[in-house]
Amino acid sequence: MPVESQLLIPPCGGALTHLLVAREELEEVKAQASYLPTLQLTERSVCDLELLATGGFSPLDRFMGRADYQSVLERMRLADGHLFPIPITLPVKPGPDLRLDQEITLRDAKNEILAIMRVEELYEWDAAEEMHHVFGTTDLRHPLVAEMHKWEKLYASGRLCVVQLPRHYDFCELRLTPAQTRARLGALGREQVVAFQTRNPLHRAHEEMTKRAVGEKDGVLLLHPVVGLTKSGDIDHFSRVRTYKALAQRYYETGQILLALLPLAMRMAGPREALWHALIRRNYGANHLIIGRDHASPGKDSTGRPFYEPYAAQELVQQASAELGVGVVPFQELVYLPAERRYEESYKIPADAPTVSISGTQVREDYLNKGRALPDWFTRPEVAEILSDSFPPRYRQGVCVWFTGLSGAGKSTTAEILTIMLLEHGRQVTLLDGDVVRTNLSKGLGFSREERDINIRRIGFVAAEIVRHGGVALCAAVSPYRATRNDVRSMVGGERFIEVFVDTPLEVCERRDVKGMYAQARRGEIKDFTGIDDAYEPPQHAEITLDTVKATPEENARRILDMLIAQGFVRDLEPARDVYPAVAAAADPALTALASER
Ligand code: ADP
Ligand code: ADP
Repeated sequence: MPVESQLLIPPCGGALTHLLVAREELEEVKAQASYLPTLQLTERSVCDLELLATGGFSPLDRFMGRADYQSVLERMRLADGHLFPIPITLPVKPGPDLRLDQEITLRDAKNEILAIMRVEELYEWDAAEEMHHVFGTTDLRHPLVAEMHKWEKLYASGRLCVVQLPRHYDFCELRLTPAQTRARLGALGREQVVAFQTRNPLHRAHEEMTKRAVGEKDGVLLLHPVVGLTKSGDIDHFSRVRTYKALAQRYYETGQILLALLPLAMRMAGPREALWHALIRRNYGANHLIIGRDHASPGKDSTGRPFYEPYAAQELVQQASAELGVGVVPFQELVYLPAERRYEESYKIPADAPTVSISGTQVREDYLNKGRALPDWFTRPEVAEILSDSFPPRYRQGVCVWFTGLSGAGKSTTAEILTIMLLEHGRQVTLLDGDVVRTNLSKGLGFSREERDINIRRIGFVAAEIVRHGGVALCAAVSPYRATRNDVRSMVGGERFIEVFVDTPLEVCERRDVKGMYAQARRGEIKDFTGIDDAYEPPQHAEITLDTVKATPEENARRILDMLIAQGFVRDLEPARDVYPAVAAAADPALTALASER
């Protein structure tokens, strides 16, 4: 273990909890773990276990037993009086292996052994009571309230012997334990360490604010982003960490910053969570925490009101600050003054001074989705580039157009024309045509209900992969069953799935009888033929319904193209007049003639 620095604030409780087995006992403990009954942990419990094991939650050294749990709910303290605002518990499913004094092996989702726990307590908990104390609400819009409804109804606690920390394969050099973080901070030689908690990309205002905070305290910055579980809808940690790295390397002085990743599973508990963040950061060596508006906010409740007051988090941590040993650096809102090309705290600016700002929603909708570059004053160019790579504009995002209808309805004919039109508009297209798919991907499958479903799901799987990688998938298969089509819609993602019902009446398809199959089916030579002796279930909410009797294939393809353009998946072409500029036409009589024909 790295040497403890004397310069930094000591961890909560005086020393870091350390639950990893000693190296010399490792083989023996592992062998023992392999034959004990297994408990598979959720992603959240794996995160909690990692912080318990390394001392991030010091002085806590186990998933909470009843006394600690009850005390944390009621007074934000462990039973022995130490501040601790968030319950860290292990929900378990009752079963024959779960009894007192039994040792069980805790494993991750991939079945890797993480720890052995001796079951010393098993107790029931009350969801409404916990929600009320910790979150102040039972509103299902709160992400943890919604999640807790799915937790098992028993909590287990007991001594932990950790065999191995959860393995990570990304950004390994930045994943520092509290002891490693302390060693690095100690080496920087400053007593004052200001931590910054974040689950968002950092823009110029954050950079400015962290630099001011560090300057004010004459210390160093612990840039400590959460990479465990954050709020769904947040920008993925891979993209975020790339932005933090770029900033730390280029825009902070060496020795002024330490970037380390925190494998925390956030609870979105507002004020209580802020206090927890401060406690955790003290364990990592920080004695200040920057707290701004809406810290660890779960957003708005079902009546549209914020769950917590914007500055409640700052206030709660401030009240506990002396006892906790961590000071609050209040994050003052910084706004940009374009005339002076600088940021300033909002309360220092005259009310009539022109300022500019861009909200998180605007970043997504007005810039990234439309492929517009984020301005320099708002974000560093390196950050803007990473964000625009990770979140390409809509016209480079994937989409699936799913044609359904009877055999001979006109699915392939329309899809082939649409393919050409999309290529003209600069999109990459894969056409998954039922007949073609059945000669390769689904070769050998017949037309029983089951085999048709397999065929459709295979097409759906491939389409979903294409869409995930930013391509356009056009699928043209009879796909007669509604439930299967709906499954495929959710595989691809509803907001990028356009169901096109090619609504050609059976008599018309039969009259066309492109492949002579209707005649064969009528003679009974083909069984289970859709429309003849097998059902076709028409879509109830198709995005587009095509009439192939009144409209030509080209007109229909253009209708779909127009919808894709309207939704932003395809960019409209520049008006064609620029192709034949007047000067060139005048100089070349052949071109003049051609242009006038058009
Ligand atoms: P599916 O793929 O739905 O089985 P196809 O596209 O292979 O159907 O066959 C449709 C047949 O109908 C083609 O021969 C096509 O030329 C003819 N057809 C006539 N009018 C239309 C139309 N408006 N749209 C599509 N196809 C049409
Ligand atoms: P799905 O897998 O949704 O049933 P496909 O588009 O993959 O539909 O295959 C349907 C095509 O296969 C039809 O256009 C027709 O040419 C041919 N076919 C052969 N037997 C049948 C059948 N029993 N029912 C429908 N189409 C059949």
